[in-house]
Amino acid sequence: MKQNEHIAKLSSGYLFPEIAKRRRAFASAHPDARIISLGIGNTTEPLTPHICTAMAQYAQALGTKSGYSGYGDDSAGVMELRDKIAQVLYNGAVSAGEVYISDGAKCDVGRIQQLFGSGVTAVVQDPAYPVYVDGSVMTGAAGGARVDGSGYEGVVYMPCTAENQFFPSDLSVIPENALIYFCSPNNPTGAVASKAQLAALVAAARAKKSVIIFDAAYAAYIRDPSLPRSIFEIDGARECAIEINSFSKPIGFTGVRLGWTVVPKELTYEDGSSVARSWERLTNTIFNGASNIAQQGGLASLSAEGQKETRALTDYYLANARRIREALSQSNFSAAGVEVYGGDNAPYVWVRFPGRKSWDIFDRLLCECHVVCTPGAGFGPAGESYIRFSAFGHQEDVAEACGRLARFSV
Ligand code: PLP
Repeated sequence: MKQNEHIAKLSSGYLFPEIAKRRRAFASAHPDARIISLGIGNTTEPLTPHICTAMAQYAQALGTKSGYSGYGDDSAGVMELRDKIAQVLYNGAVSAGEVYISDGAKCDVGRIQQLFGSGVTAVVQDPAYPVYVDGSVMTGAAGGARVDGSGYEGVVYMPCTAENQFFPSDLSVIPENALIYFCSPNNPTGAVASKAQLAALVAAARAKKSVIIFDAAYAAYIRDPSLPRSIFEIDGARECAIEINSFSKPIGFTGVRLGWTVVPKELTYEDGSSVARSWERLTNTIFNGASNIAQQGGLASLSAEGQKETRALTDYYLANARRIREALSQSNFSAAGVEVYGGDNAPYVWVRFPGRKSWDIFDRLLCECHVVCTPGAGFGPAGESYIRFSAFGHQEDVAEACGRLARFSV
């Protein structure tokens, strides 16, 4: 049996296994070191009471004749949840029928690529969440990794760095027939695109008959009311965009697994046929719906009580982000020219060490402070010289890590 030729094109070693390997090696050489991870974007705080109780009660009922249910009627999810998402999170700007419940944003990023096949060009922010590019390689929409480490063949990288305030300077690089992956609030940079910037992106996509895959997994972290939480706040987006979203980061469902995708009715292929119809065909074939227990949790999170809990949980992580920002603004960092970005409307702090390699900074932080971060180069060529700190952690661990950062000899 031969391996799928597209999967064979993937470069080995996804970012996080390499981080785990270095951490393990350090821990075995220094068994007394208490390593604190501010590396991965995994949530750490318990599920909140209202949401947790709703799931527990539903799970109990599943053990009774009257409360049991098997497959859902529709792989798109429970209509009450689809409706609540449309009303509470989109203020009615999308309809319940356009909301498709999933088992998480990552899974839908992978599935959505099948709608467009191998004939598209992938366009990504650089740096970016690695799944957009790796998934494109798997569908055959991108070639193998370039030997000089500057990314994959056939992918258009739009650098997003401090020089352009983390928004692509030149949208004219978007070719026709492209899938444009855009994440805001951004993982890893923590930057949030303004309405004017997203309007420019929508205009560019429409001019090139291309489709935006808008990843809004961190929208619940936006505190500045002038910043858009959805691509559908932008005129014209319904004709050119799909939005992918998640309950993972707002309510700690990283393990529970629940997300959703909005495919607007107006979105069509070039022959005028409906993208939503083909999304339904695809998901009905290879997906049997999200967990019914998880969907009850999602529903509870959209009640008034659930929204209060969501706000408190995201505030908790944002307080961590603020603390990390403050630690990185101390004199040992500022004197060395270190620049600090993100963390105000996103749970990631993105830090630039001018002229330095991000894996070197990673190794030194691990050795000197016993703190794990994520090297920016792992998110794309333009991530070099940056590192990412995640605000997902217990407050006491973040406080201790920040104390250790004060002693870091940059
Ligand atoms: N999108 C982005 C930008 C992410 O950073 C992550 C997880 O870290 C995901 C999607 C995955 O979300 P989910 O847990 O819903 O699969």
